[in-house]
Amino acid sequence: MERDFTMSKYKELLQSLPKGDYTLESALKDEEQFGIIRHDVDRPPKNVLPLARMEKEEGIRTTYYFRVKKDLFNPIIISKVKEMGHEVGYHYEVLDKARGDRKKALEIFEKEWALFQEWDAKTICMHGNPLSGYVNRDLWKDNNFTKYGVEGEGYLSVDFSKYEYFTDTSRKWNLKRLAVKDRINGKLREVKSTDDIIEKVRKKEIKHIYILTHPSRWNDDLLPWAKELSLQSLKNVVKYQINVYRNAQQQAEY
Ligand SMILES: [Zn+2]
Repeated sequence: MERDFTMSKYKELLQSLPKGDYTLESALKDEEQFGIIRHDVDRPPKNVLPLARMEKEEGIRTTYYFRVKKDLFNPIIISKVKEMGHEVGYHYEVLDKARGDRKKALEIFEKEWALFQEWDAKTICMHGNPLSGYVNRDLWKDNNFTKYGVEGEGYLSVDFSKYEYFTDTSRKWNLKRLAVKDRINGKLREVKSTDDIIEKVRKKEIKHIYILTHPSRWNDDLLPWAKELSLQSLKNVVKYQINVYRNAQQQAEY
């Protein structure tokens, strides 16, 4: 059985889409824009550049959100993504960092957002840590991000009733059970595979699309792929590697 969530599968997905601009910054200004593709770079940005390059080759411009965390915040990689023509944005987690203290959270926000001005960032998107009790976007319940020159937020500025939303949270598409904080008010159709999405796009069943990916989940190498697949102990990774050889898709429980 063919593996899903590989770079080549992502390329197929890109090729099914009309070429053009899928950034949030542009979608905020152009109601006709077909879609939004957002990448939350939650882990070390190893596959970010290959992904960004592939999109550039396919004529698709997307948005990458980066966290400000030691080992994750990499200005060289961010600059390269920007140079390729993509949008760079800030993946904030300030309520987590400030343990719910809103005043402190705003201070951290201001400082970290300033870092992104180097790449002319216009938009932000919250990071959802399933282990934390805070929902970072709640910061904007009694504050306005426009005050900081932010033009949009990946959840709050989007009319989800307009878009068909696909998220790879949990390394399956639209798995409601696991997409803890990735909740949106619009429709969340369960799809079995990337091929399902490709088919829907090709058949023009989707009027407007919003895709969220986590780049680390898309791998061609068998080992990181198996690691991503299992999210379990090393022992299980080894076990999964064996399973991957045998029959990847049928063993994809974790
Ligand atoms: Zn995130």
